[in-house]
Amino acid sequence: MRNKAEQIKNKIKCYIPDRIWQIMRIVFNPKKPKTKLRVEIHVVDHCNLNCRGCDNFSCIAKPSFLDIDEYKRDLVRLREVFNNDVEWITLIGGEPLLNKKITSYCHIARELFPDALIRIITNGTLLLDKNDSFWKSLKTDDVLLYVTKYPIDFDYDKAKALAEKNEVKFRYAFESGDVLKTMYMTPIDLKGSQNPKISYKLCGKGNKCITLKDGKLYTCEAIPNFFTFNNYFGTDIKVCDEDGIDIYACDDSKAIMKHLASAVPACRYCDNKHYRSGIDWGVTERKITEWILTQE
Ligand code: SF4
Ligand code: SF4
Repeated sequence: MRNKAEQIKNKIKCYIPDRIWQIMRIVFNPKKPKTKLRVEIHVVDHCNLNCRGCDNFSCIAKPSFLDIDEYKRDLVRLREVFNNDVEWITLIGGEPLLNKKITSYCHIARELFPDALIRIITNGTLLLDKNDSFWKSLKTDDVLLYVTKYPIDFDYDKAKALAEKNEVKFRYAFESGDVLKTMYMTPIDLKGSQNPKISYKLCGKGNKCITLKDGKLYTCEAIPNFFTFNNYFGTDIKVCDEDGIDIYACDDSKAIMKHLASAVPACRYCDNKHYRSGIDWGVTERKITEWILTQE
């Protein structure tokens, strides 16, 4: 039911200009502290698809996998702080199925959070290569495969049928289902001259794509991944302590949720006034203009 509503919402969104959609979000769905945590964790930085303008910067990331012991330690701490108020744990990347230990990450999450939705957001292209133990493990741990359908030569229906045969939950994500993935762009303002509060208000990711990295929670996935952009292009996007909240330094889940529902200094780098959706999908040329606006 939720998936149907999401698909209808995404279809309607295709016909509404970005600026109107942003204003509708501010009016009808303002950012408020959440009562339950839905958290994303990047288990791998790089990806096998290399989409142009990837908002996780995965197409310009060095190959890197999340250390599983650090991951476990952070989830144990999340359990201490949030107890049962962790509603979703999303394993994401990059392409999470590139991580050979992906089922172990799922199993750890399931053991610590028996009632949470555990899901993997994936481009799905590696699913046809997975062995029986992968499928058995996902079934046992009740993991959802949340698959984004890209306009590439890949048999998504075959992957879906394989998941169903192995009794693993499979769902198309976002614009997907019968609609193929398009890209969007939040231009990066390299000077950091945006008003962070306005940028945050206009943003569709803040407080929605809450991300855990190295023991800190961030309101979106961009902030803990800006380092990838800096590394590749030699830029100087500054991320400071106040941009995230340290889960080892704070026991108060309500204070954490409040922080996550607020603008942070790094929001000054996001030019959300020029956010654009519906961009045709393509392979990256790794040019900085895929992420910033030029004068022409
Ligand atoms: S599949 Fe997703 S993570 Fe990978 S490059 Fe494309 S948008 Fe980025
Ligand atoms: S840094 Fe702020 S404005 Fe930019 S994506 Fe994250 S929450 Fe949104």
